[in-house]
Amino acid sequence: MDVVDKQKRSEMMSGIKGKDTRGELAIRKGLHKLGFRYQLHRKDLPGKPDLVFPKYHAAIFVNGCFWHAHGCHLFKWPSTRIEFWAEKIGSNKIRDERNTQAYISMGWKVLTIWECALKGKTRRNLNEVIHTTANWLLYDSQNAEIEGRNN
Ligand SMILES: [Zn+2]
Repeated sequence: MDVVDKQKRSEMMSGIKGKDTRGELAIRKGLHKLGFRYQLHRKDLPGKPDLVFPKYHAAIFVNGCFWHAHGCHLFKWPSTRIEFWAEKIGSNKIRDERNTQAYISMGWKVLTIWECALKGKTRRNLNEVIHTTANWLLYDSQNAEIEGRNN
């Protein structure tokens, strides 16, 4: 592994570990201001969602695009340790699908907010993300995703 790769990988790692990213915090704050009450990282729910809204039977995941192989500019297959990453990312994808199914059978809905909606050249206006999320909580019964612009 060369130095560039190593650095890239540690950035990616911090992307997933850094749960409370700035964008995520702003979304929480915005929703709270609109009167929504939530719980954080409930360990007893499938996939430990970032935000849980028990009243709305809704879970929100803020997903790192690399770790969940999102089809956007933030995801690119690494050029080294190809098998390792294929295995790792593949099992994340399978887990995501299993979790979503678990929520469906609980009668809950799931919103995925992708990293590319919150940072980089495709990021959306935070107010837009907050209001889309609020509308989804109130009026939508389906699972949904918020991703970056022009994806
Ligand atoms: Zn993405």
